[in-house]
Amino acid sequence: MPRSAVLRPCRGTEDVGNSSARSRRAMALGLLLAAVAAAPASAQSGTGGAAPVEPAPDAVRAPAPTANLYGTPAPRIKRFACRSACAAGAARPGSLVRVFGRGLRKVDEVQFLGADADTADDTSVAPRRAKRKWLVARVPRTAVTGRLAVSLADGTRSPATALPLTVAPQPPALPAGVIDAEAQGHKVFFGAQRPAELSYVVGGTQPAEVTVELIRGADGAPIATWTPGAVAPGVPQTVQWDGTAAGKVQRDGIYQFRVTATDASGVRAVSAQDPAAPVDEDAPGAFNFLGYRFPVAGAHDYGEFAASFGGGRGHQGHDVFAQCGTPIVAARGGVVSFKQYHARAGYYLVIDGDRTGTDFVYMHLREAALVDKGEKVKTGQLIGFVGDTGRASGCHLHFEEWTAPGWYDGGKAFDPLPDLRAWDAQS
Ligand SMILES: [Zn+2]
Repeated sequence: MPRSAVLRPCRGTEDVGNSSARSRRAMALGLLLAAVAAAPASAQSGTGGAAPVEPAPDAVRAPAPTANLYGTPAPRIKRFACRSACAAGAARPGSLVRVFGRGLRKVDEVQFLGADADTADDTSVAPRRAKRKWLVARVPRTAVTGRLAVSLADGTRSPATALPLTVAPQPPALPAGVIDAEAQGHKVFFGAQRPAELSYVVGGTQPAEVTVELIRGADGAPIATWTPGAVAPGVPQTVQWDGTAAGKVQRDGIYQFRVTATDASGVRAVSAQDPAAPVDEDAPGAFNFLGYRFPVAGAHDYGEFAASFGGGRGHQGHDVFAQCGTPIVAARGGVVSFKQYHARAGYYLVIDGDRTGTDFVYMHLREAALVDKGEKVKTGQLIGFVGDTGRASGCHLHFEEWTAPGWYDGGKAFDPLPDLRAWDAQS
């Protein structure tokens, strides 16, 4: 990322309200400045509205942009090929498909579009591996023949392929005593658009009594159980987990869905190869569960001393440098408690993090945030773009974390750098 040798972060403290009159002052200032900035703000809100937000269910049929409004090139698919568990050139549910193209490294989802006239049969999966010019994805259990597309975390989407991927019907029936199970994504964030999801197929010719357990990799303990009852053989089933057990959000780590089925003849099958073995990320039905997503979706830099918490001037957050226009996603979902403009903070947003007690603050956004006060936001949802509005030198995200009861509401700011680094390393 090209940048000047010396990173100069926010000049001030972005101290948006330091008295009990915080709300009143912030509101009044916000209103005043919003009025002053009304012309450019509304001019930009036009582009903001057309920004590459989560595509509508049928948006995949619309002409695809070749780049988003902020200059990030859209990914492209040139060709694809079935690589494993294929059926004479066609893929099957569960096959690994290799997709070649460009701009694929940051692909978040591979979309299987099914029949063109039908969006109900669309499905998607996170790639298993993604490099700049290729990626590998497992064909979901529920996929049918159709064109493919890929999209980035900010919603930028490739055009659909000209040719469809042929997905052969289910492979020859699985024998009794076999269960084919897989998690729909390798990485699952608490409170994200895509929950943890298992799809599985029970083998044999008779219905079987099924129990699905979710195993916590750290200690092998089952923390959730589903009992769907008698399940028909050969018919794909799904189970979703919301990230909680006994009402508590579970800690980061590897988890595994484990399916046990017993048919009327007493044949018992377990989806895990060796139920006694430690849970491994690549095991069937396993996935990595994470509570937070790193908020800057692009190349970035943590700056120098002046960027740090304190920074010699009571700096209340940490500055993460990135090119203006880099997408910002919610580190944690929750409810938007403030969305305003401030002379020092620029366009900013405060999200009361779902089940955290922590407020997450994003400042110097390029234009007004894409979500509104009171709105419920998902973890990883696009909320805006890196900018330098307010008192900022150089494009960066000024990020704060505050303890309960909240931002300038009795809580305290704490150094977010350890969290940022941890999220960065895994998401
Ligand atoms: Zn700052």
